Amino acid sequence: MTISKILIANRGEIACRIIRTARTLGIATVAVYSEADTQALHVEMADEAVLIGPAPASESYLRIDAILEAARRTGADAVHPGYGFLSENPDFVDQVVKAGLIFIGPSASAIRAMGLKDAAKTLMEKANVPVVPGYHGEAQELVVLAGKANEIGFPVLIKARAGGGGKGMRKVDNQLDFPAALSSARREAKAAFGDDRVLVEKYVATPRHIEIQVFGDSHGNVVHLFERDCSAQRRHQKVIEEAPAPDMPEDMRAAMGAAAVQAAKAISYSGAGTVEFIVDASDGLKADRFWFMEMNTRLQVEHPVTELITGLDLVEWQIRVAGGEPLPLSQDELSISGHAVEARIYAEDAEKGFLPAAGRLAHLRFPDGDIRVDAGVRAGDEISPFYDPIIAKVIAHGKTRSEALSRLAGALGRTEVAGTVTNTAFLARLCRDADFAAGRLDTGLIDRNIVSLTAGEAAPEHVTGLAALAASGMIPDHRTDADVASAIGPFEIWGLPKRRVQLEIDGKATAFLVERSGPDGWRVFGPGFEAAGLDMEAVSARGADWSLRSGGISRKCRLIQSEDEVAVFHEGLTHRFGKPQGKRTADLAAGGDQVVSMMPGIVKQVLVTQGQDVKSGEAMVVMEAMKMEMTLSAPRDGVVAEVLVTAGMQVGDGVSLVRLEAEVKAA
Ligand code: ADP
Ligand code: ADP
Ligand code: MG
Repeated sequence: MTISKILIANRGEIACRIIRTARTLGIATVAVYSEADTQALHVEMADEAVLIGPAPASESYLRIDAILEAARRTGADAVHPGYGFLSENPDFVDQVVKAGLIFIGPSASAIRAMGLKDAAKTLMEKANVPVVPGYHGEAQELVVLAGKANEIGFPVLIKARAGGGGKGMRKVDNQLDFPAALSSARREAKAAFGDDRVLVEKYVATPRHIEIQVFGDSHGNVVHLFERDCSAQRRHQKVIEEAPAPDMPEDMRAAMGAAAVQAAKAISYSGAGTVEFIVDASDGLKADRFWFMEMNTRLQVEHPVTELITGLDLVEWQIRVAGGEPLPLSQDELSISGHAVEARIYAEDAEKGFLPAAGRLAHLRFPDGDIRVDAGVRAGDEISPFYDPIIAKVIAHGKTRSEALSRLAGALGRTEVAGTVTNTAFLARLCRDADFAAGRLDTGLIDRNIVSLTAGEAAPEHVTGLAALAASGMIPDHRTDADVASAIGPFEIWGLPKRRVQLEIDGKATAFLVERSGPDGWRVFGPGFEAAGLDMEAVSARGADWSLRSGGISRKCRLIQSEDEVAVFHEGLTHRFGKPQGKRTADLAAGGDQVVSMMPGIVKQVLVTQGQDVKSGEAMVVMEAMKMEMTLSAPRDGVVAEVLVTAGMQVGDGVSLVRLEAEVKAA
């Protein structure tokens, strides 16, 4: 059975990841996509692509009939499900096989055996795999479950038997809280999985999540590819994963590997799988303190860390094994080299409770150098609310854990995303967190240190100054790849341009005044700056790269502007400023008919009269606002049609001060 064309029933980074390996093996690829993904990277990368339905996953990526029809029409001979979506749906596997196609993954019966956590635990108990103590029987009445919880001893964990992604899970600390926790776990499970049955487990103290990558083939061979530590979690979801596990004793590694292989053999497993264990790390790692939690019968999001420490391509192994080949290596041919760490970059606001975000990626730049980036998007792409808001996985390898961690932190600092908020700064802080860096990790670490991990850092004043300068339109935008001297407009002592701009900082519109102070210099006034303003001088500028001098220090910044945002990348941090008045500034700069006050203030002087000819940039009105004087100048050449204010008048924000006669355009 040679595979010559694979249909990938997925999207995003994992679809792109699979296409890359297929290409190196000389196998053709077919992408499927929803209406939200017509321009998506995986569609562009694949040799062929088929539209399978509207944006909601239930109408596209979860449509078995549409996916099989796409396979038929393109002549694909195998289907790779990726992770999520249909990857653990045994009915999908049955139908793929019935259609005469190869499913790149385990058999439907293996998926069924592990699909429900309660049945899987019963099966593992029979196979002599250590299982978390608890109740995973049929009874679902409150009295029975509460009684079992008492027997197990609090704290306990209620879990949806159909659960996944941390949903339908509740930790309960005492008997009193049990009934309410049970009903809320049931409600969540019903909504997410359509199955409200639960099991109750002992909540393991100082828990660490350590999982074993296993691989089986159709000839009965099973090996393990060592462990991954995924204890850095938030709401039971993985944030940073690494391999090997910090401080893992050899005897424990051997015991866990053997237990995982035993688990896989018990269900005649073929392909890539992960056996997840919960570890009691209250007294360090001990070979008798790990218990089976569940098996994920698919490729895992965090598989790249295993690839980096073993030097293997797990997708290649999946394809070979699905094609009937035996496992490429035996257990004693496998070994660990160095340490690897992966961070998942999501469009989410860590400072605001990890609120998922969406938006168009106005700019996207991944770190170069010795770093692996698995991305599913490119600049200009939209993070749509329909799917997981993952942007990329950044994976670093090093000789030691600390080398890998600092390489990852550095890479995260060089990752540039504009257009949406990301968790990148949070991930970089986590890499440098004292406990995490020292390997003192358990699943509670992020919650314990959440304040320092999510502390927003205020932008330094030269960054805010640069953002205000950019928003003023007085410096070229990053798409102009010109040298600063030629790109910045001519400097004249008379009629030095001044502009008022607003930037959105912490959700509030904040006013700035920017004025040209010399051939390559500007002065910015605004909150936080001294009364004299912040003087800034351009040392150099090319495209997005600026070197600016202020207070005698030159600093490098990268500056990216879009219609509604200014993003400044500086010293490993991303500072984003909204442009609430972007439109208005643009209109004025483009030669609007009015001169408008951009902050509340007092009119000090009116320098023009009705009917007067003015030149672009000519001073028209002097205002005092925020204890500063500012001159408003003509947006273009023209004739003053109307002067709407007089000296001494108090005006609000956005008030018309002078109107020019409409431009007479040549027909
Ligand atoms: P793990 O993170 O251990 O691999 P999860 O149970 O968290 O396992 O499952 C992976 C998650 O990835 C799913 O919950 C799903 O929401 C999400 N997912 C599925 N398909 C994709 C995709 N193509 N891109 C990004 N995320 C996806
Ligand atoms: P899911 O299917 O949602 O991935 P898991 O059973 O794998 O569910 O558990 C998810 C996470 O919940 C684990 O990674 C771990 O952090 C935590 N967890 C699960 N079981 C226990 C337990 N018995 N004691 C402590 N923490 C647990
Ligand atoms: Mg799990």
